[in-house]
Amino acid sequence: MLPPDFLSASNRLTIDLGALVDNWRAMNKRSGKARAAAVLKADAYGIGIAQAAPALYAAGARDFFVANAEEGAALRPLAPDGRIYILAGMWPGNEALFFDNDLVPVINSDEQLAVFMAALSERGDHPCVLHVDTGMNRLGLTVEQAVALATDPARPASFSPVLIMSHLVSADDPDHRLNGLQLRRFHEVSTAYEGVDASLANSGGVFLGPDYHFDLTRPGIAVYGGEAVNDIPNPMKPVVTAEARIIQVRDVAAGGTASYGASARFDRDSRIATVAVGYADGYHRSVSGGGVTLRQATPSGAFGFLHGQKVPHVGRVTMDLSLFDVTDLPESAVRPGDYIELFGRHIAIDDVARAGGTIGYEMLTSLGRRYIRHYIDSV
Ligand SMILES: *Cc1c(COP(=O)(O)O)cnc(C)c1O
Repeated sequence: MLPPDFLSASNRLTIDLGALVDNWRAMNKRSGKARAAAVLKADAYGIGIAQAAPALYAAGARDFFVANAEEGAALRPLAPDGRIYILAGMWPGNEALFFDNDLVPVINSDEQLAVFMAALSERGDHPCVLHVDTGMNRLGLTVEQAVALATDPARPASFSPVLIMSHLVSADDPDHRLNGLQLRRFHEVSTAYEGVDASLANSGGVFLGPDYHFDLTRPGIAVYGGEAVNDIPNPMKPVVTAEARIIQVRDVAAGGTASYGASARFDRDSRIATVAVGYADGYHRSVSGGGVTLRQATPSGAFGFLHGQKVPHVGRVTMDLSLFDVTDLPESAVRPGDYIELFGRHIAIDDVARAGGTIGYEMLTSLGRRYIRHYIDSV
């Protein structure tokens, strides 16, 4: 039974937790001997950590990555005995969040190492992760620093990382030369920290194969149904379906225009559906069918899916409204009140992202607050 607010929503999301769990299990299996963590940063890639975390916990996930300590504190009650890793790490002033909520800081720099060591001497032993930068030049100790630390006789016994990690630069491109280079650099570190678990692979890294799996993998986007590897068919199940309601259907005669800037031009008699979704919902203006700079580079804007057919977006996406050309559907088929799929089961979220010059990750994490959300349990 669909809830009444969902049935009458301007726009709505169906979030399939069964597909989420199936995707996590598939990535866990693909990780071979390694175990898969669940990456739950940014409100579980926008789908809702309050729903995603318990579902993944019930499926067996016990390692969880979030971006910052606030996210970790919110996750703690949802994953009671899970290990929660905080990617941004610890800094002066937020130490208590780690000790009070049993959060594991990722140490990203020697400054953070110093903050962590000071917190240890004040508050007692606590686990940590050592992040090593093998090529991203973003966060982490250098390989040389990490190896030196491993063998430093002055290293305090209380510093005993439970995990060594690094992050891949181009895991979405299996042929990229940096993959192998990062792997070799990471091996130097994992060898220096013998007996400590190691983690290198995000979703794309899992697809790179067993050499990249180590002890723990960190798949994010693939679990949420997005593309992890360029130029191959996406094997994951879609998790999020976004739909919006047609408010009005109108006719535009050949030669007429529509939308701001008269950016949609019609060379035939056309029928246009005005739909209740816009950039305020995270349906980015850049996916517009026309009238935005990006269309000079990428000719096609986004498509929606309606009554079994793909229909093109026309004109500009505005704050609350979007136009779709439904001329190719039978006239009687399209009615106000029908819901058009923006992405999900029939339109890949990554195809919409590509039309807008972005990636599925950004589409998911910008899902607007206006959508009425309905969580379901199976595909
Ligand atoms: C976000 C993130 C992941 C997950 O990456 P995906 O590409 O979504 O699989 C893994 N590791 C780190 C350090 C991250 O920041």
